[in-house]
Amino acid sequence: MNPGTLDLDPGTRRRLWQAVSAEVEQHFETAGEGPVAAGGDPAEIGRWLAEYDFARPIDPVQLVRQVTRGLRAHQVHAAHPGYYGLFNPRPTALGVAADTLVAALNPQLAAWSHSPLAVEIEQHLLRAFAVRFGFPADSADGTFASGGAEANLTAVLAALDAAWPGLHDRGLRTLDADPLLYVSAEAHHSMHKAAAVSGLGVEAVRAIPVDGDLRMNLAELRARLAADRAAGHRPFLLVGTAGTTGAGVIDPLPELAAIAREAGLWFHVDAAWGGAAVLVPELAPLLRGIEQADSITMDAHKWLSVPVGAGMFLTRHRESLARVFRVSTSYMPRAGAGPGAADPYLHSLQWSRRFIGLKLFLSLAAAGWEGYRDAIAGQHRTGARLRALLPGAGWRVLNRTELPLVCFADARYTGPDPARQQQRIADRVVASGTAWISTVRLGPEGTLALRACITNYRTGEADLTRLLGALEQARGEPGD
Ligand SMILES: *Cc1c(COP(=O)(O)O)cnc(C)c1O
Repeated sequence: MNPGTLDLDPGTRRRLWQAVSAEVEQHFETAGEGPVAAGGDPAEIGRWLAEYDFARPIDPVQLVRQVTRGLRAHQVHAAHPGYYGLFNPRPTALGVAADTLVAALNPQLAAWSHSPLAVEIEQHLLRAFAVRFGFPADSADGTFASGGAEANLTAVLAALDAAWPGLHDRGLRTLDADPLLYVSAEAHHSMHKAAAVSGLGVEAVRAIPVDGDLRMNLAELRARLAADRAAGHRPFLLVGTAGTTGAGVIDPLPELAAIAREAGLWFHVDAAWGGAAVLVPELAPLLRGIEQADSITMDAHKWLSVPVGAGMFLTRHRESLARVFRVSTSYMPRAGAGPGAADPYLHSLQWSRRFIGLKLFLSLAAAGWEGYRDAIAGQHRTGARLRALLPGAGWRVLNRTELPLVCFADARYTGPDPARQQQRIADRVVASGTAWISTVRLGPEGTLALRACITNYRTGEADLTRLLGALEQARGEPGD
């Protein structure tokens, strides 16, 4: 192998960095111009891949241009203001800069001593967010994670460890009763996945029915807990969702906190998306009760608009992560003598780890809390505006939430199959390239709704007008 091929000479490297930065800037400037969703034809993708058999080297600058063009032609563009999707943001410029720097400097975050400043930057951020959520500064702890799914799995593990201290060594053999965890029927399915991979099984998840506003039904929860107890099972974890994926609904957190306390359950709040509301004084009261949680999931790659993935797991119990993830090796660098944070590999599911926190650190340091407050409040206003505009245009709004996520249906449709009509509308809107929306089934009846979430800090009034136009075109004539 010729080492020069991997390293490149300084002149080529410089041309490469220039090409990358030109492509990035071009994307930032023009992401809103083309269709929102593009290029899902598998045959076309197959032909594209066939060009790369790795039999001969390709000029690096050429390669970067080709691949960027290929990717841009074959993806849903969350950076487009017409993207009303699944919490994927237009990334912050500083987040992109951070991920580039992280790749170049490549700090290893397994051990504190290898990258002390990077580890401390993450701890600094985690403490800051823990305090914003109302956790006591002196006992709060946390870890960055790949995303909400890893953070939710961490919550299951922490709750299990708290209920069965022997679990770390003896595993599931230490369980003296069936462990059960409680979520709402609208909760994210990463909780089910966490139950499956932690060895509990999906049947350990009690999906509690929701009320008319799609919030966890407290009477149903109490009844289920009592019945499970009476049957000899062992409830150990209650999860409230602050901003459900389907309808952006916030469970009654203060009541859930009280029930968890009474019943001796770990109380976790999955605020992967909605947690960002804590940064806006007018919205923060929506999250009341979250300060009583034992742990919180919050994704910076959703409403805080940094590139994926940047999950955060926060807990009020300083000792918890160190208990769950403890391990002992002779080959890892020994902890330094200083007052540094714990070694991250002893503190998280991950071992070798990328510096996840820098994209949030740079974005937050540049914008300040105030910059984030304004961006989030702006998206909130845009969501409220969409919610207000829809009924006048012949759409029925189906969800009640303060968060900028609107579920709705065609109020003019009188035909026999409303679900088919909503799906057809969503498909046509996406095919038009003007906007990207989706459908979701809501509530016990599984009513199919159109779903539009303001996920892009650039989406504004003119985009809403375009969305309403695309919707109008897509619904066709009554009875179509
Ligand atoms: C997105 C989301 C998750 C999963 O998080 P990832 O970052 O995709 O792993 C979990 N819960 C909620 C409420 C979410 O919105």
